[in-house]
Amino acid sequence: MTDHRIRNIVIVGGGTAGWMAAATFARILGPEYAKVTLIESDEIGIVGVGEATIPQMATFNRMLGLDENEFMRATQGSFKLGIQFVNWGRQGHTYFHPFGKYGIDMKGVSFHAYFLRLHQLGEAPDIDDWSLQAAASRTNKFMRPIDAGNSPLSEIPYAFHFDAGLYARFLRGYAEERGVVRREGKIVEVRLRGADGFVESVVMEDGAAIEGDLFVDCSGFRGLIIEQALKAGFTDWSHWLPCDRAIAVPCESVDAWTPYTRSTAHKAGWQWRIPLQHRTGNGHVFCSKYISDDEATATLLANLDGKPLADPRTVPFRTGHRNKLWIKNCVSLGLAGGFIEPLESTAIWLIQSGLSRFLTMFPDKRFNQADIDRYNRIMITDYEEIRDFIILHYHATERDDSPFWDYCRTMEIPERLAEKMRVFRSHGRAFRENEELFNDTSWFAVMHGQLMRPQGFDPVAEIMSLDETRSRLAHIREAIANSADYMPSHRDFVREHCAA
Ligand SMILES: Cc1cc2nc3c(=O)[nH]c(=O)nc-3n(C[C@H](O)[C@H](O)[C@H](O)COP(=O)(O)OP(=O)(O)OC[C@H]3O[C@@H](n4cnc5c(N)ncnc54)[C@H](O)[C@@H]3O)c2cc1C
Repeated sequence: MTDHRIRNIVIVGGGTAGWMAAATFARILGPEYAKVTLIESDEIGIVGVGEATIPQMATFNRMLGLDENEFMRATQGSFKLGIQFVNWGRQGHTYFHPFGKYGIDMKGVSFHAYFLRLHQLGEAPDIDDWSLQAAASRTNKFMRPIDAGNSPLSEIPYAFHFDAGLYARFLRGYAEERGVVRREGKIVEVRLRGADGFVESVVMEDGAAIEGDLFVDCSGFRGLIIEQALKAGFTDWSHWLPCDRAIAVPCESVDAWTPYTRSTAHKAGWQWRIPLQHRTGNGHVFCSKYISDDEATATLLANLDGKPLADPRTVPFRTGHRNKLWIKNCVSLGLAGGFIEPLESTAIWLIQSGLSRFLTMFPDKRFNQADIDRYNRIMITDYEEIRDFIILHYHATERDDSPFWDYCRTMEIPERLAEKMRVFRSHGRAFRENEELFNDTSWFAVMHGQLMRPQGFDPVAEIMSLDETRSRLAHIREAIANSADYMPSHRDFVREHCAA
């Protein structure tokens, strides 16, 4: 019988995507199944940004069997309970997009409906009172969930901030221990097979040709194989997501360790603030049509907590994705496949979902086209659903203080998002569509946070009397406040469990 099994996997690129892929193959397939080689070039380096994550990252860590404290120590990590958005809905306004849920659904009706009923009576001004993550973030508290029955402390979804360079190094150690072979050097040519156009080998600067059955393109924005050799083409979303550059700079960390990412909107973009143990990561994401690099850098430097620790670095990007993420015997992951926007920290998750979806469709050497088509369709849906959620932040705003915000506020948006906004505007209903990444809580948090105010609330919320609604919401608010009080400070928690 002919042996069709993939026995030789070549990963091109050693950034977050490349090493996540290498670690996953090492863990799931193992060296007996296939040889895995990873090629990276120290001279080219990695993009080195991408330091905030979402709770799904814990699933990836568990799949690898990582000890979370060890991972945090190795990457100078901190914990994240959500994102604080400053100046997004309007200047001077702040809201929090928490992980986890608001309150609890009651009698089959979503918590949001009861909240809106009271909010519209002027009785429940701040949704954050019903989120443990938001309440804990007000005073920089953090802990992992504990076994505490019905208490909110039993369920605390959280994510991580980490140093991207250290993370790649950490995964490299993991993968190399499990048989992955690293090759240093620059690839100068991609050779395709004459007969069918499959990738045959990549050629190094020293002339060595590295052959493989399967190539995983993790070469970053350049898309060395998927674009430059296989001509995948690119679906450009810059008309919806016009930011196209970032300037990044680390600075000294300050005393209060915020357990959240902060995103502060500026005149033509926004600035991230990611607290780590040894430094704070900062970056200004902006649209070069509206401000220059110099102005963006000046804004960034004027809004740091502490002294800059390096020179500001510019990272140009384009929002969108390859028309096909998998072609023949090459699958692209990470920036080689596409990039939406760092606003909701979804790029590392897209690498993770790309890997898990790829493993469920893992090919043999015949590379069945139906499998490839299915993978591409599902991945592109992931990209599109996240895209719509990100566009919401820019579009649903009252800001009219600059040409950038005027453009975003008045631009045409994808119909799927327009429909979600129409539905919210009537009765404040927010839905998770199919298997999309962001759930109804996230959609509600951002729509409400961006100051969208529905005309009414879900009429079914009236199955509970107003008095009972008041009393139940007061009870939940109290349980959340008590739980937040009980939590240790983020800094103490890190120091006790995972100080680097
Ligand atoms: C401004 C910005 C902010 C971001 N913030 C976040 C965030 O908060 N959260 C999040 O989840 N994601 C974020 N991301 C995305 C995140 O940075 C990336 O998804 C992640 O770092 C993966 O990058 P990568 O591995 O695909 O590419 P890279 O890090 O660019 O790695 C590419 C690799 O390919 C190698 N390579 C390229 N060409 C060759 C060649 N010819 N020969 C040999 N090797 C080669 C390079 O040496 C390198 O090892 C952000 C991205 C940007 C641009």
